Amino acid sequence: MTANRSAFFQSLADKFGPKVILNTASLPDYARDASEIKVAPPAIFFAEDENDVFEAVNLCRQAEVPIVFRGAGTGYTGGCVPVPDGLMLSLQHLKKLEIDVPGKRAYCGPGVITIELMKAAEKLELFYPPDPASYDESTLGGNVAECAGGLHCKKYGVTKDYVIGLKGVTADGEIIKTGVYSNGDLFNLEGVLIGSEGMLAAITEMAFRLIDLPQIGPTILAAFDSPELAARTVAEITRRGIVPAVMEYMDGDAIACSMEYEKSVEIEAAAAILLFETSGNQAAREAEEIENICRKNKSSFLKLETNRDEAEKLWKIRRNLSKAVKASAREKISEDVAVPPSKLPELVNFVAQMTREYPLRINSYGHAGDGNLHVNFLVQQEDSDVKGFIDEGIRRLFQRTLELGGTLTGEHGIGLTKKEFLPLEFDPPTLQWMKGIKTVFDPVNLFNPGKMFI
Ligand SMILES: Cc1cc2nc3c(=O)[nH]c(=O)nc-3n(C[C@H](O)[C@H](O)[C@H](O)COP(=O)(O)OP(=O)(O)OC[C@H]3O[C@@H](n4cnc5c(N)ncnc54)[C@H](O)[C@@H]3O)c2cc1C
Repeated sequence: MTANRSAFFQSLADKFGPKVILNTASLPDYARDASEIKVAPPAIFFAEDENDVFEAVNLCRQAEVPIVFRGAGTGYTGGCVPVPDGLMLSLQHLKKLEIDVPGKRAYCGPGVITIELMKAAEKLELFYPPDPASYDESTLGGNVAECAGGLHCKKYGVTKDYVIGLKGVTADGEIIKTGVYSNGDLFNLEGVLIGSEGMLAAITEMAFRLIDLPQIGPTILAAFDSPELAARTVAEITRRGIVPAVMEYMDGDAIACSMEYEKSVEIEAAAAILLFETSGNQAAREAEEIENICRKNKSSFLKLETNRDEAEKLWKIRRNLSKAVKASAREKISEDVAVPPSKLPELVNFVAQMTREYPLRINSYGHAGDGNLHVNFLVQQEDSDVKGFIDEGIRRLFQRTLELGGTLTGEHGIGLTKKEFLPLEFDPPTLQWMKGIKTVFDPVNLFNPGKMFI
């Protein structure tokens, strides 16, 4: 780090006191996210309010010091991994949480943990549906920046479907307001900021719409003798117009990892499992239809659970899956492709074929209702051959996904890990326009440089 840069960080520490940490080795978690890419930040600024963000951005802009925003660091693609010699600006302490019950709205700081909003809304008979499996760790700011999806995505939508206004600080050091925070938008600025992965603005406050808390129906667990049979069931349920509140897919190896990690409930070995939850007035009827379709598709085991505590144990399996799979290997490289649900059988077959072809442990699970599949390549020991297989496997997975009309990222974003693959999905003019948006918002590349685009 240059002497000038060191002097700048020291001046921040002098001005803001304990909000700025220079001995960042004492906070190793801030050097990485769930992608496990590590870059130690030279300084971390723990903002406490919008004014701190405003001042930090303006000082960095004047000194030409890049900034990376951080929520909880649960991102999977390196989005909040520090850039060398840049400031890490944490928004985790901006915890405003106000709910307007008659207006069915929530006004939140970016540091609110997703489940905190869900629980606060639930107490008032309201529902905030976007629920990434990381909901007990991830922040709402990170959810908006990544446009997080979740288990409820098929029936209720993803984060962008609930944002009705944003406040943020832009790279030119101004405060920007959209949606309910302004008198109206001409262009859809909000739409541009949602999913912008910390590249366009620091999000300092968010307004969300809430919906009435729905009646929750039974949970259904269906086991199958092949991933394809499970995926065909998903395709048929979708074709028949049945929309479960949750429809999750897990392959046999992912379930085995879960059983090794934490047995909240015993599950019989199966090649694949689907977990469903229905909701609303038609919950019982839909559950019955789902069971019938599972039977028709030769489900080897079916369990319908109406007791909420018992059902929670089943959901815990799914919610802990990412950690369980990670715990089963030295390293886990996870990709989150998505295809139209009708193409899911072809995608799971392709993953099964790769498992047979490569001397690697590969497993998968995902929000099947949305055609989302997290494919995990597990590394047990350091070995250059294995790395070659994984690189090849990822590239083939992406190619197959695109052939099936899918996308390289269902919900985890691009960050560092997927930027080299963007040209596979987007043509040069489209990519050029996206880069153009970055340039308009941030001409000097102050925010999160080196991410998303090559
Ligand atoms: C166990 C596990 C399960 C997961 N399950 C899901 C899932 O089901 N669905 C899903 O979509 N994702 C999932 N994820 C990924 C991750 O949790 C989400 O991407 C989440 O939205 C990241 O939130 P965060 O607060 O951790 O953000 P971070 O990782 O801290 O940051 C993510 C990105 O957002 C930017 N950012 C953060 N806060 C702000 C802000 N206030 N203003 C501007 N930019 C900001 C950062 O710069 C970075 O680019 C999972 C991750 C784990 C570890």
